[in-house]
Amino acid sequence: MDDKQSKLVTDAVDEKIKALEPSQRQAKIFCEAFHAIARLCHETSALKGFWKSEDRGGPTTYEVDVPKRIALLHTEVSEAFEGYRSDLADDHLPDESMFSVELADVIIRIMDMSIAMNLNVEGLVIRKMVYNITRPPMHGGKKF
Ligand SMILES: [Mg+2]
Repeated sequence: MDDKQSKLVTDAVDEKIKALEPSQRQAKIFCEAFHAIARLCHETSALKGFWKSEDRGGPTTYEVDVPKRIALLHTEVSEAFEGYRSDLADDHLPDESMFSVELADVIIRIMDMSIAMNLNVEGLVIRKMVYNITRPPMHGGKKF
């Protein structure tokens, strides 16, 4: 493919992506919904005792064991991998695949952490995607 053909493909891809870009209203609705569900994730986790080994002194004074929380994220990703590899049904929601339920667990844990650490993950999803739209195909010369 020559440079001219490559530019045509890139322009076509950019046009498709632009058509999918959320409006400001959609981004606001996403952020508000994400935050509300994230609060549910965190309060449920805390009330079920999963935060008691870490300081819960108040919303701005959390001492979060970040390496532990990241390791727990890894466990959910690994469970998704195993569910996919072995084509398993989920233990708790047997009408669903373990793969998709474990991916949901990854999101739940990220939401939980975002509240515990007062992170703006929801806003960063939008902001990072707006940035990603501007990146060239296979940016940085990546193979996949
Ligand atoms: Mg899980």
